[in-house]
Amino acid sequence: MAEKFGSTLLCAPVVEKTVEEMVAEMSAARSQGADVAELRIDHLAAFEMRPDLELLIKNRPLPVLVTYRPKWEGGQYEGDDRKRFEALHLAMELGAEYVDVELKVAREFLHFLSGKRPEGAKLIVSSHNYQFTPSTEELSTLVARIQAVGADIVKIATFAVDICDVARMFQVLVHCQGLQVPMIGLCMGERGVISRILCPKFGGYLTFGTLSAGKESAPGQPTMSDLLDVYRIKQIGVDTKVYGLIGKPVGHSKSPKLHNAVFKAVGLNAVYVPFLTDNLANFLNTYSSPDFTGFSNTMPHKETAVTLCHEVDPVAKSIGAVNTIIRRQTDGKLVGYNTDYTGAISAIEDGIRGLQGHKDGTVSPLAGRLFVVIGAGGAGRALAFGAKYKGARVMIANRTYDRARELADLVGGQALSLTELENFHAEEGAVLANTTSIGMNPNIHDTPLSSKQALSSYAVVFDAIYNPKVTRLMREARECGAALVSGEEMFLRQAMGQFELFTNSSAPSDLMREIIMKST
Ligand code: NAP
Repeated sequence: MAEKFGSTLLCAPVVEKTVEEMVAEMSAARSQGADVAELRIDHLAAFEMRPDLELLIKNRPLPVLVTYRPKWEGGQYEGDDRKRFEALHLAMELGAEYVDVELKVAREFLHFLSGKRPEGAKLIVSSHNYQFTPSTEELSTLVARIQAVGADIVKIATFAVDICDVARMFQVLVHCQGLQVPMIGLCMGERGVISRILCPKFGGYLTFGTLSAGKESAPGQPTMSDLLDVYRIKQIGVDTKVYGLIGKPVGHSKSPKLHNAVFKAVGLNAVYVPFLTDNLANFLNTYSSPDFTGFSNTMPHKETAVTLCHEVDPVAKSIGAVNTIIRRQTDGKLVGYNTDYTGAISAIEDGIRGLQGHKDGTVSPLAGRLFVVIGAGGAGRALAFGAKYKGARVMIANRTYDRARELADLVGGQALSLTELENFHAEEGAVLANTTSIGMNPNIHDTPLSSKQALSSYAVVFDAIYNPKVTRLMREARECGAALVSGEEMFLRQAMGQFELFTNSSAPSDLMREIIMKST
């Protein structure tokens, strides 16, 4: 059945155990901004068909979708289908806007309804695959089968084994939109999250958001408040540009909150999503359209990105890590940058300038200065090459001495063991930069340099760790009289650098700082 397409509906699954709780959840769903509430009556503890459905449907505060999912399709109901059909039929009679029935029994259900199908209720015929996402051809065949059975709305939910699986669902959604076939197409699991956020861009009829974390009716559902307030799904449309964080894991990152808030503030038609990615090459090959415009890129893909970008900024190349990938709009080529080093180094430069009341921005205050980096991993390399690039004399201290030696050789500096660092007295004005995870939550009582005597020889101390905001190293450095530069400042500035690369315009720094300060 053809239907006029509007914006994608936001549906809140209501999965509480008692009918009274479900009524309360419906009101909560409405006040949170849902367009539809999905009543999962298979989740009701003791379901009494007529009284419960009357209570739920007659005074409903928003349109409802009634689902009575059997065990064999991932639900809770274990009885025979006839009772389910009766309940769905009654829900239609009572005025439910939508009912959902599984493809496997859709013919039987329509046969059951024949001659007594109430007007008004739309029939969603659904198919769930909890193992994997089939090929585009198989998905298209499934759509045709669901349509042929007499669905008003096609629903296909599959499991995303890999984030690239979602692209096939997007393809099928676009195809259905062209044919004016209303379709709900979602991929379950943490690798399918983008299907739930980006479906409005590809013409999805409806997406599901939970009322709060922990109330998912299927794996991977985001909360309604994330969908509405962070990702602003009501504003996502066909022209919305997509940005995001590639990495594994990505769930802990503050970047979606930060970048989406900034896009909103500057009025950009863009969304920033988490891309939980196993294989960077596959991801970049799959999401290759100009709409996937720019990416933040984090562990474990920073090194691989250097080899996959068509062009790489020279300092990023020497560091051997790319944390930002831009799809150049003129020729589609991928260009790699490293804003970790620009973020950290500019923050440290400003820290020194603040100490000196030094206003001259043309010459780096790092030129000629001793710069001691603790750590020889990704952040260590970024700081070491960044400092060298600015003319500093670099020393590397690391737990694994050989790695310190290797990095020191690359930047033309000296290597130290962590024990040597404890006894090292730096010259006046030296900078100390911790790039290890020593002192990071939950090990907040640890420090990479415990000798106060050694610590007091540094004028400026930087810690890449941003959780906690003030580490033991920073606290003790402050007691020793050093100027501090925080990992949070590095994070903020690397994000500002990314915004500038994403948009070719200067970052709203005060706003970004305010958002970061407010975040926990
Ligand atoms: P990485 O590549 O895994 O490197 C980790 C470094 O820490 C290595 O040098 C390692 O020494 C050292 N290390 C780890 N555990 C240690 C321990 N228990 N004792 C002594 N040394 C230890 O990690 P990364 O990406 O560089 O990240 C390092 C830190 O920087 C993390 O805390 C991360 O959150 C932070 N970071 C912050 C930002 C920001 O924006 N503020 C950006 C990037 C990273 P070995 O060589 O001996 O293994």
